[in-house]
Amino acid sequence: MSQRELIVLGTASQVPTKLRNHNGYLLRWDREGVLFDPGEGTQRQMAYAGVSATDITRVALTHFHGDHCLGLPGIVQRINLDRVPHPVDVYYPASGEVYFQRLCNATVYNRTVELRTHPIAASGPVEATGAPFTLTAVPLSHPVEAFGYRIAEPDGHRIVPERLRALGLRGPAVGELQSVGTVVHQGRTITLDEVTEPRPGQRMAFVMDTRLCDGVHELASGVDLLVIEATFLDAESELAAEYGHLTAGQAARVAAEAGARTLVLTHFSQRYRTLDGHRAEAARHYDGDLVIAEDLTRIPLPPRLRPPTGNAR
Ligand SMILES: [Zn+2]
Repeated sequence: MSQRELIVLGTASQVPTKLRNHNGYLLRWDREGVLFDPGEGTQRQMAYAGVSATDITRVALTHFHGDHCLGLPGIVQRINLDRVPHPVDVYYPASGEVYFQRLCNATVYNRTVELRTHPIAASGPVEATGAPFTLTAVPLSHPVEAFGYRIAEPDGHRIVPERLRALGLRGPAVGELQSVGTVVHQGRTITLDEVTEPRPGQRMAFVMDTRLCDGVHELASGVDLLVIEATFLDAESELAAEYGHLTAGQAARVAAEAGARTLVLTHFSQRYRTLDGHRAEAARHYDGDLVIAEDLTRIPLPPRLRPPTGNAR
């Protein structure tokens, strides 16, 4: 049984508060663990969430403002301290190379683990060797260069047990059908197409600090899970535009237009004492599964959509 969920480690923009840690999110996706934007205190939040350094297979940074990367020195050193047995891929805007190097070399430590770096300079797919998904980076609009990320599982097919039963197929015959693509059963050749249905791949997008721009819509299009910043409310939309951020209303409208199935709002300004306003504003535009992120919550990817013609289970 695969496990796909977002573990929220922190939800505060700019400064941590008593209730909200700096940003940080771990996406568990089968055997992968993608750590997005580790801010200060991410190690401690991982301990609370039951996440170990070994769970991290990739780190993806949207940009080099402190609330999105000040946790990186601790994470990199912890990966080494714990002698994580696999290489860790790290994605970040190429223009921030100097900051990346400083963060990775902030203090003395014994570097043993391989960090495979992937500086990103343009929109498009990035190398994700061994992953069960494609990873795409798309530029956002922020005072410093920023990229959002989209994770997409290739579309596939799944066997429909009812169709196997209807044909009387089982055991080794099913194995042969899967490996060869056809099997002769009771004098008839059965093809894989007869017993399978399309299985749409799952998709997730991570959209942090940005104004509304084409990239936001591109990333969000048709995703199962959209994690998106909602630093402000519509009443502060001028501030949001000036500082390169979104409002809850804007984020919700993006999600609605994109057909996102679960919407996670996060990265909240400390100016708001409660997030009731964010929930109400978002709910006016988006009627799907809305989550106002809290630290240490776990949000599962919604179950796969069934194709319209599917008739199994
Ligand atoms: Zn920023």
